[in-house]
Amino acid sequence: MSKKWVYQFSEVGEAEKLTGSWDGARALLGGKGANLGDMTRLGVPVPPGFTVTTRGCNEFLAGGNKFPEGLWEQELAALAHIEESTGKAFGDPTRPLLVSCRSGAKFSMPGMMDTILNLGLNDKVAAGLVALTGDPRFVYDSYRRLVQMFGSVVLGVPDEVFEAVITGRRKAAGVKVDSELKASDWQEITRKFKEIIRTYTGKPFPEEPLDQLLLATEAVFRSWNGKRAVDYRNASGIRHDLGTAVNIQAMVFGNMGDDCATGVAMSRNATTGDNHLEGDFLVNAQGEDVVAGIRATQPLDELASVMPAAYAEFKAIAERLERHYRNMQDMEFTVEHGKLWVLQTRDGKRTAQAEVRIAVDMVEEGMLGKEEAVGRVKPEQVDYFLHPQFEASARKAAGKLASGLNVSPGAAVGVIAFDADTAEGWSKEGRDVIMVRPETKPDDVHGMLAARGILTSSGGRTSHAALVARQFGKPAVVGVAALAIDLDKREMTIGEQTIKEGDVISIDGTLGDVYLGALPTVIPDIDNAYLTKLLSWADEMRTLGVRANADYPADAVRARAYGAEGLGLVRTEHMFFESERLGIVQKMIMAKTPTVRAEALAALLPLQRADFEGLFRAMDGLPVIIRLIDPPLHEFLPPHDNLASDLAALKMQLQHFHTLEEMDQALGVIRQKQDHLARVTELREANPMLGTRGVRLGILIPELTRMQVRAIFEAACAVKREGVAVRPEVMIPLVSHVNELRSQKRALVEEAKLVMAEQRMEVDYHFGTMIEVPRAALIADELAAEAEFFSFGTNDLTQTAFGISRDDAEKGFLMYYLEHGILEENPFATIDAAGVGKLMEIGTQRGRAVRPDLEVGICGEHGGDPASIHLCHRYGLDYVSCSPFRVPIARLAAAHAALKYGPQLKAGAQPAASGNEAGKGVVLT
Ligand code: ADP
Ligand code: MG
Ligand code: MG
Repeated sequence: MSKKWVYQFSEVGEAEKLTGSWDGARALLGGKGANLGDMTRLGVPVPPGFTVTTRGCNEFLAGGNKFPEGLWEQELAALAHIEESTGKAFGDPTRPLLVSCRSGAKFSMPGMMDTILNLGLNDKVAAGLVALTGDPRFVYDSYRRLVQMFGSVVLGVPDEVFEAVITGRRKAAGVKVDSELKASDWQEITRKFKEIIRTYTGKPFPEEPLDQLLLATEAVFRSWNGKRAVDYRNASGIRHDLGTAVNIQAMVFGNMGDDCATGVAMSRNATTGDNHLEGDFLVNAQGEDVVAGIRATQPLDELASVMPAAYAEFKAIAERLERHYRNMQDMEFTVEHGKLWVLQTRDGKRTAQAEVRIAVDMVEEGMLGKEEAVGRVKPEQVDYFLHPQFEASARKAAGKLASGLNVSPGAAVGVIAFDADTAEGWSKEGRDVIMVRPETKPDDVHGMLAARGILTSSGGRTSHAALVARQFGKPAVVGVAALAIDLDKREMTIGEQTIKEGDVISIDGTLGDVYLGALPTVIPDIDNAYLTKLLSWADEMRTLGVRANADYPADAVRARAYGAEGLGLVRTEHMFFESERLGIVQKMIMAKTPTVRAEALAALLPLQRADFEGLFRAMDGLPVIIRLIDPPLHEFLPPHDNLASDLAALKMQLQHFHTLEEMDQALGVIRQKQDHLARVTELREANPMLGTRGVRLGILIPELTRMQVRAIFEAACAVKREGVAVRPEVMIPLVSHVNELRSQKRALVEEAKLVMAEQRMEVDYHFGTMIEVPRAALIADELAAEAEFFSFGTNDLTQTAFGISRDDAEKGFLMYYLEHGILEENPFATIDAAGVGKLMEIGTQRGRAVRPDLEVGICGEHGGDPASIHLCHRYGLDYVSCSPFRVPIARLAAAHAALKYGPQLKAGAQPAASGNEAGKGVVLT
């Protein structure tokens, strides 16, 4: 016996049994077919039908577009079943059965063959149906739809040709809309359509119903390899070997009079998540009429008064389907002479806001468990609550200009700039810019960075523009094919509309839409009650801590409000750049004698102390990790080239001065600049990233880090006196040798003790180190003997592990690498598990082997990236630290990691030396 290629809707259970799971049944029958079968099984009124499997499709394509043995015979047998259950017969004019042919892959995707309705009609059957229904207008309208759909979808005749015929007929009949055309008009149109098909394809329209069925089935199979479908799968990472199923289903008619209707519905509001059945319907209409927008639809609520019984039944079914799938449903229905039929159901697409609300509501309605609800919301959806978006009402009112791929979320408004230099220049003048290009190249990056958003007319999800935009969090829409850019004329056209450089546009990177003019943006509400609840559930599930990187008290307050459990990184040098401080810092750097330097440091001390007091107060009761000065000193002085050119200009001016006073003043400035230049020249390094920075600075200028530690402990004592619970942790950056750590730590602990003695106060504190060069990870055991905590600085660790400088890489070869697949992911966005991650595992394990209670965290930007957070969970880290805005995302991602991998096991918690399996369960290979 040949294989089973065809399943009646009523046989969905068999498909499930054969494949072993519901997911397997969906793969075999496609999403649409599996759900039609599932609804049939539930007793929902579904017109009878059958599904030809995706295996049948794959076999057909593999065999050179030939049906595999037995497939057609099984299709005929299944058709006989439909005939039996409907009491009608395919091709029989006295009791005609009509069917639809619907494609349906496992994942719904564009590019697959459009549905064909009313298969089974020909001249004889049409005449029979007229006799039966007494409604020739209905019959010939249905007939012409079949010929039109069959002609365009199966035979490839451009649909415009058919539409032109209809328009011509309307003009001839002197009517405005299709619905005013009479039966005879449609009959004539059908005849004309067939003529077109014959001239266009050289063959007549297939009158024989079984030929129609066969050709339609084949066409669905072939559409799997259509260009649009292949492109879509490439862009969205769907496998090419899944194949599509074909669904053949008895027709029901929403267009047989005023007791008929057709509609679409969502079981909840897809924008807000409100638990209310929503949708649109049309009385006396068929299939696509509702979505095609030819006639104004009615809101579904009105069906309650138009057809109360059908509405009540549909509402009950919608609720049932929701409970069954435990998800919001997107449904299609038709009412034929008062009888309700459901034609499709699937999980509904929705906004992030709706996703969160629905997940929480469904837990409260007892439909979902908390874990499932938390697992369902994606970290990017939480991101939505933190970035400006366009208001839904404003989007509707404005009407979009064009659409493309939504490659980087968020809303952006600005003036169009057609090249990177213009974008950068205008942005420096304080204008918001949208950079628009046919596509972008590495040379464009400076403009993209300066722009608010990026728009391109070509390119896909992995194009340069898309990669860069996501990398830098810039909203972007790419591949807007409708956009014709004329770089010479400095304008672009979309359809009839011409838009010039400097005109204002709005782009929606979340939805992939482009609008003319400035749309108002709103910051969605982070205090949203549903989000707050969902995140509180996430907190119950996660075992990984979440802290924030913050330099100012205001940021710390925000971080805490977003749920941070401490600060994982305070960068002390950021405050040095503030205008009233920079002068003092420069004086400290320029100091030629210890006394001058001491003076400068003494002036900085109270300023730093005040910074820390604010942070400690904001984080009352929570740990605060303060990193001592990190960047090379020359960063605090003017750039070498600027100094040199300023000096040259000043010397030129000298000859033009008239008074001695002017002269003196100028000479003073020249002297100062010369001093700076001399010092800058002295400090100049070939590779500052690898030069005198981090702990190396603290060792060379111990007074500086001593001052910082003094400020930390004076601040700690002061706020403790106010009743604040302080937990300072002092972090030493860029250590590569244990002696560096020893020498710095000794000096600093001494200073801390000194301050506490002066203040007659004890403060709980820790000293620790960053791990940001490979050597430090490898000697983590030695470091752990000194350090009470580790924090992986994964930005530097990635640079030093790869031996690449991030600034140079991202402007240069890295984008090329990503575009050409040499690197699959940007290691500065997601931790490179094989290399950098390996170093983190080794560091954690070796550190904890020596000091089992060693606190280990991460403070690089990766700390806010969901994939990296999963890795940190698996490495057994205590916490991740990220920007305040990413704290809610990190909380959710950490919960996902715990759900996926189980609670963390701390590597080395039981010393390996004791012979038991240290870190069992942790991925430490
Ligand atoms: P899509 O995937 O584009 O939604 P569908 O296969 O769902 O395509 O069908 C397109 C339209 O035709 C929908 O409105 C659907 O409800 C309608 N339709 C499909 N099959 C039938 C049928 N057997 N009877 C009545 N309407 C149908
Ligand atoms: Mg559909
Ligand atoms: Mg660093």
